[in-house]
Amino acid sequence: MGVQRGDMEKPLQILTISFDGDMTLWDFRKVMRDSLKHTLTEMQKRIPTPRVLKLTVDEMIEIRDQLAEEVKGEIWSLLEIRRRAFERTLEHVGHPDKDLAAHLDAIYRKHRFEDIELYPDVIPTFDALAPHFKLGLLSNGNTYPERCGLEGRFAFVVFSQDVQVEKPDPKIFQITAERAGCELSQMLHVGDSLKNDVAGAKNVGAPSVWLNRDGLPNDTNIQPDYEIASLTEIPEIIGIRRKNKTCQEK
Ligand SMILES: [Mg+2]
Repeated sequence: MGVQRGDMEKPLQILTISFDGDMTLWDFRKVMRDSLKHTLTEMQKRIPTPRVLKLTVDEMIEIRDQLAEEVKGEIWSLLEIRRRAFERTLEHVGHPDKDLAAHLDAIYRKHRFEDIELYPDVIPTFDALAPHFKLGLLSNGNTYPERCGLEGRFAFVVFSQDVQVEKPDPKIFQITAERAGCELSQMLHVGDSLKNDVAGAKNVGAPSVWLNRDGLPNDTNIQPDYEIASLTEIPEIIGIRRKNKTCQEK
């Protein structure tokens, strides 16, 4: 017979902070678009037909996203999806060529991984939090810490492509808390997506922070516990919650 904690209001103790990656710690959209631009330039040099000269980065993104949708749940490797997207793009412009697709993919990878930059608030925030909290990464993307200057900064990392389940699925949050060695209620999750990060965390009882860098309106019914415009606001949030020592959650 175990002791039941029931519905008693528990003191909130945050032990761990899990961070989303893309658009939270680094500007993935920018590096992805810039990297595609490099491959597009190469493609136009190799195949200067009117169709290829008319091709745009937006079209390439559409082709990739459509492909990702088709293979959802089947192919998890984001690099594999990207490589196939180059093959499909070449088919789309009437020049199927697997070798050229592999060449374009290599150009893409070089820029996508070498040119990625952290937002300027990441390192100062991690420096402030690291002595007090276990920090982790929970990402649906594929930027591993060693590829963006964050090697050794995380106590745990969880990538959807490795565990084959993605945010906002409760399972990936449970896996993350297990790796962090804490309860979900002790894990503060920080991310830019209301659906994937905030609702995902809320559904499993983890407190959440919505990082809204651009001051976007929240036109959903998803309510984060906190909304911030910069990661540097996190130490203050945690400080306040620690001082109050009671759970303010509904
Ligand atoms: Mg994100």
